[in-house]
Order: sequence, then C-alpha cells, then structure tokens
Amino acid sequence: SKEIGRNSFQLYKASMNARSLERLSMLSRFQYALEHDEFELFFQPLQCLASNKVASVECLLRWNDPNLGMILPAQFIPLAEELGLIIKLDQWVINKACEKMALWRRQGSDVKRIAINVSAQHLCQGELAQTVSSVLKKHQLSGHFVELELTESSFISNLHDAKSELKKLKSLGVSIALDDFGTGYSALSYLTKLPIDTLKIDASFVAKIPDEYGNSEIVAAIIAMAKALNLQVVAEGVEKPEQRQFLQKLACNTIQGYMYCKPLCCDDWLRFYHQEKVT
Ligand code: C2E
Ligand code: CA
Ligand code: CA
Ligand code: CA
Repeated sequence: SKEIGRNSFQLYKASMNARSLERLSMLSRFQYALEHDEFELFFQPLQCLASNKVASVECLLRWNDPNLGMILPAQFIPLAEELGLIIKLDQWVINKACEKMALWRRQGSDVKRIAINVSAQHLCQGELAQTVSSVLKKHQLSGHFVELELTESSFISNLHDAKSELKKLKSLGVSIALDDFGTGYSALSYLTKLPIDTLKIDASFVAKIPDEYGNSEIVAAIIAMAKALNLQVVAEGVEKPEQRQFLQKLACNTIQGYMYCKPLCCDDWLRFYHQEKVT
C-alpha cells in the first residue's frame, strides 16, 4: 500500500506541473474510470451512544485502479478538484449512494440515513440541490434518508448563495452536516445563519482525548455549544475506549471511528448492519 501511495502521488505530482497533453490524459483517465466502474463506495457506520445502535452510515469513495490497486481519496480528490472534475465525481457518488439506500429500503432495511461527502466547490458552482432533487426522484427516495457532509470552506466565498442552496436542500428533507468542525478559521456566526443539523467534531480533537492540556475542554465546549444550538453532534476518529467513555459522559450523540467499525465494502457493511440489529 506504500507502493500504491507512492505511485499515485507521482501521478498526482506529474499532473500538478502537467503540460496540456498530460492534463488531457489525466482527464480521459478519470473519464474512463467513471465510465468503467473503477470507483466504489465504502461504508462506515456511525454509532448512536444512547442506544448503541447504528445511527447512520457514511459513504467513502475508493478508486480501484487496475494497475495501482485501491487508491484513497486523499490521493485523487485534490486532483479531481484541480482538473475541474470534482462535481462530476460528486454526482456519481450522490447517485450511487441514493441508489444503494433506495435498494436497501426496498429490501426491508431500516438504516436511518446515508451520509454523502460533497466537495466545497460543489455547493454554489454545481447546482447541488438540483442534482440531489433529480437523483432522489430517479430512485424514488425521500430526502429524509440523506445527509450531506459539507466543510466550512463551502460557505466562505458566498454565504448568501450557500444559504439559498442549503434551504432548497432542506426543503427536500435532506439534512446538512458540517464536517471537520473545529479545523476552519471563520467566525462561528454562520452556525446560526445557515440551516445546519449536525456538527462533526474533527478527528484531530478526538485523537488528543484525554491527554493534551485544554483539548478535552474544547471538545466539551463544542458538544455543549451544539446542544445549546439544538444541533446533533458526532465525534469522528474514535479509536479508544477512553475516548468513547469521555464522549458518552458529555452526552455526545454519535461516534464514528475504527473502534466501532472501519469503512467496509458494501457486502461487509450489510453483514455488519444485520449482525448489529440482532445483538
Ligand atoms: P472525512 O469525510 O473526514 O472522512 C473520514 C476519514 O477518516 C475517512 O478517510 C475514514 O476512512 C477515516 N477514518 C474513519 N475512522 C477513523 C479512525 O478511527 N481513525 C482514523 N485515523 N481515520 C478514520 P478516507 O475514506 O480516506 O477519506 C478521506 C477524506 O476524503 C474524507 O474525509 C472526505 O473529506 C474525502 N472524501 C471521501 N469520500 C468522498 C466523496 O465521495 N466525495 C468527496 N467530495 N470527498 C470524499
Ligand atoms: Ca465526512
Ligand atoms: Ca471529517
Ligand atoms: Ca475531511
């Protein structure tokens, strides 16, 4: 996997100082990958701390390159953003995620929600609400089964447009999560200006529970603020029992991380879900 990382990094580096020919070949490589099912969704369940049950599931994108093997998003999302392909890729993910969720529901599953990561570029440039609306219609799925995960950088350039786009999404029943919370730089005022449902505390804060001075207090303050604002709060990257215990004491709603479950391929995720339901 180190080898894969190195190869795809070279691929990435090559494209960064690409001449137009190399750029064109990367573009067609991406296009080919999209058309030939080289992308795949993995699924990571989130756990409700009150019930110990599966709260929802987040889709995480993987690229199965025939030569390089499985490539993680850190290796190709920046490239897709740079090449202007991220919206296309996001659209593929939104469609695939809703297709899966609709199928699971038809099969009798009661998974509450599927969470989809959306790139910052998408919200204002890409008519996100329009995309989501037509995908929901196509799969006959209610927006209540979908949560979109956005980062703060989605709002910074144009708060006004972001707000109207988010409102359209809310009117479809879709909920909105703020991903990587605590790592941005802007004021907190947008939390009350935008229709946000969920805060996801970034894994970097969770990783430092309980050791580092001041860190636990920051996490406690984020949870308290979320509760005061009537937002759901998720802690990401929970790996250790003491982190889970700490978060449970603070009445954090939901956790996600290797301690509960790592990201799984579709079949393994469905097995996990059915096992969790009977135990
Ligand atoms: P993210 O949305 O913050 O996703 C969480 C990342 O943390 C995932 O990495 C996940 O596999 C990893 N993770 C989960 N539990 C743990 C844990 O306990 N410890 C540690 N150390 N890591 C954990 P992944 O799958 O490599 O994704 C990285 C990032 O790529 C995501 O961060 C997200 O920003 C982006 N991404 C993933 N899928 C998509 C997608 O479909 N569309 C877009 N636009 N971005 C995506
Ligand atoms: Ca996410
Ligand atoms: Ca995150
Ligand atoms: Ca992230």
